[in-house]
Amino acid sequence: MSKLQILERKRIEKEQARLVAIIEATPDMVASGDSDGRATYCNPAGLRMLGFERLQELSAQHYLNVHPAWAEKLVRETGIPHAVAHGSWSGETALLRGGREIPVSQVILAHKGEDGQIEYLSTVVRDISALKESERRIMRLNRVYAVLSSINTTIVRTRSRQELFDETCRIAVEQGQFRFAWVGLFDAEGAHLTPVARAGFENGYLDRIVLSTRDDTAGCFRMLVQALRESKLVVCNDIENDPRMKCWREEAARRGYLSMAVFPLRCGTQVVGLLSLYAAERDFFDTVEMKLLVEIDDDISFGLDHIEKEERLNYLAYYDDLTGLPNRALFYDRLNQILPVAERQKTLVALLLVNLERMRDINETLGRAGGDTLLKMAARRLGESGMNVNHLAHFGAGYFAVALDNIQREADAAHTLEHDIASCLAKPFAVGGKELRVSAKAGIALFPSDGADADTLFRNADAALKKAKLAGDKYLFYTPELNARVAENLMLENKLRRALEREQLVLHYQPKIDLRTGNISGLEALMRWNDPDSGLVPPMQFIPLLEESGLILDAGQWALEQAAADFRRWRANGLPTPRIAVNVSAFQLRHKDFVGMVGRVLGDAGDMAASLGIEITESMIMHDIEASIRKLQVIRDMGLEIAVDDFGTGYSSLSYIARLPVNTLKIDRSFIAHITSRATDISITSAIVSLGRSLGLKVIAEGVETEGQKTLLQQLGCDEMQGYLFSKPLPSAEMETMLRRGINERP
Ligand code: C2E
Ligand code: CA
Ligand code: CA
Repeated sequence: MSKLQILERKRIEKEQARLVAIIEATPDMVASGDSDGRATYCNPAGLRMLGFERLQELSAQHYLNVHPAWAEKLVRETGIPHAVAHGSWSGETALLRGGREIPVSQVILAHKGEDGQIEYLSTVVRDISALKESERRIMRLNRVYAVLSSINTTIVRTRSRQELFDETCRIAVEQGQFRFAWVGLFDAEGAHLTPVARAGFENGYLDRIVLSTRDDTAGCFRMLVQALRESKLVVCNDIENDPRMKCWREEAARRGYLSMAVFPLRCGTQVVGLLSLYAAERDFFDTVEMKLLVEIDDDISFGLDHIEKEERLNYLAYYDDLTGLPNRALFYDRLNQILPVAERQKTLVALLLVNLERMRDINETLGRAGGDTLLKMAARRLGESGMNVNHLAHFGAGYFAVALDNIQREADAAHTLEHDIASCLAKPFAVGGKELRVSAKAGIALFPSDGADADTLFRNADAALKKAKLAGDKYLFYTPELNARVAENLMLENKLRRALEREQLVLHYQPKIDLRTGNISGLEALMRWNDPDSGLVPPMQFIPLLEESGLILDAGQWALEQAAADFRRWRANGLPTPRIAVNVSAFQLRHKDFVGMVGRVLGDAGDMAASLGIEITESMIMHDIEASIRKLQVIRDMGLEIAVDDFGTGYSSLSYIARLPVNTLKIDRSFIAHITSRATDISITSAIVSLGRSLGLKVIAEGVETEGQKTLLQQLGCDEMQGYLFSKPLPSAEMETMLRRGINERP
């Protein structure tokens, strides 16, 4: 070797040593290996990265084993082939150290010999954990930023607290990628927290949270209580190990909640509720995030404050600040919501406009403040009168409006005025040490007949009110015809109510005769009204009104009781008293307590059942056939007899008649009246008789007035008859005489 060569070699060696020193000192991994997968060199940084101390630990395995599976596949299938083909490859892969994955950026170089074959591969690997971590944090922060700005947008837009809460939860889950978010509100005393909004994966987590801050002996809600008491953000970055979460640990783990934060929501200075966010990552809430989250918290609280202020403004815009009742604007709004409903349900709505009289005098004598006090008191009484407060308004200056919905007839409006409203105002008002009596006038407009919208109805009610003032009437309907009709109805209704109270109703009895033996086989009780003004009033003139006003329930019960009492008395006096049938109205049958009422009238004495029966009009039974069948079944099981009244005038289908739990068919009087002259009436009567026979029912003919009719009915095989021929309906005293005579005339 020449001196030159030696020198050259030394230079190279020195150069190499220098390069090796550099490589050994770099913080990145530098390593090389042969094409069989054995590492031939790795610098100290590389060994540290892998958690090894010596090269042998690395070269004992295939060098690709230092990667987790996904990275191994990437390096083997893409990295190395690419480097072999093009000299080098770079990309993001990962290494394993003690089973943990370290994100790295990696360069692979392929070194060829003079023959062009691959001699060895080398790699340079940089740990990019820190970079990745900060990328993740930036992403997370971006998420939180997005939440912040979305919530701010919502705050600007929304008018309602509920919407703000719903949106906050939704945004937190959708944009913030929180696993679950919910808002709970405290009651006025801050004692109970109730969830009001939620979003995300919950699966029953909240069902148990109706938190009482007063009694949390188990300490389950410590974080929530802390957020409330300290009025600041409370964070738990490790739900699994945090003692404050001991009650919820398992439930939370099952749902993948690993960290959580609770924010107090403030309105003014008061904590009104809590927002809770649950993240699927441990240590989610770090300082930077918390700063943003506190900002979100402040913004929501600002939003709440804002909404409250606006609500207060709305209150002034929609409520009468003197009485606290809705003002005209709100009343119109609500009325316009009621009207379409009434239209669908085919019910009436009445708008009553009530004006307290002499308000000007009162203001002059007692001063404005006195007048205001009076109005406040009147408003309070109206509000407490049982009327729907939402349908009550004060338009100012002593003008009150009431909307009555769901009414069936005009008279209901008059009722409300005469009873509820009048009685509110009847008692004197104590204002400024004086007892004041107030009277009122009212105008009534009805939907749909007097107007289709709130405005028209109001104008017409106002017109009616003006007329009432001029005419000196207490109230007037807008439609003049209604006034007379309603007034008459109301008067009669009041009279009937009094008639019931004063026991002016009486029962007359008409005997039923057995057409074979001529004996009295039964009695029918028929109601009359003994009106002191006009004498005995027949039922057709007052029963419809009893039905309309609901008084029929009392009157019907009275009739049953009276019949039972008469029966007992006659029997007790040793009279041969047959079963008494009482007429029952469809309204009674439909009433839910009908069966119960009958049972109570019969009382415990079982023998009473055999003393009574009921008659129900055919068309009424058919009205709600299934319910009728059920009720009648129970009644018949009690031992009462049931007759289908006015049979032949309804449209019963034969299949139903067969199913009806009844004993008797009563052929309507209209067929009997012409039975001797009209062939069709004979056919109908004959058909009913055979129908009754084949169904095992007794058949009674009503309204028999002549011998001819009786004979014909006997020939047709009718069982019983009832009519003037034998006897008119008789007052009970006369009926008693008839029973006493033990009448046994042959027909
Ligand atoms: P209804 O049940 O069909 O009663 C028979 C009606 O015919 C009775 O009229 C009776 O007086 C009358 N009448 C009986 N025989 C003859 C006759 O030979 N010729 C003529 N022209 N009429 C005769 P009233 O008493 O005026 O009763 C009328 C209706 O009032 C009854 O018809 C019944 O539906 C109803 N009603 C009577 N009392 C009650 C009651 O206590 N409760 C209920 N809900 N309705 C009753
Ligand atoms: Ca009857
Ligand atoms: Ca009849």
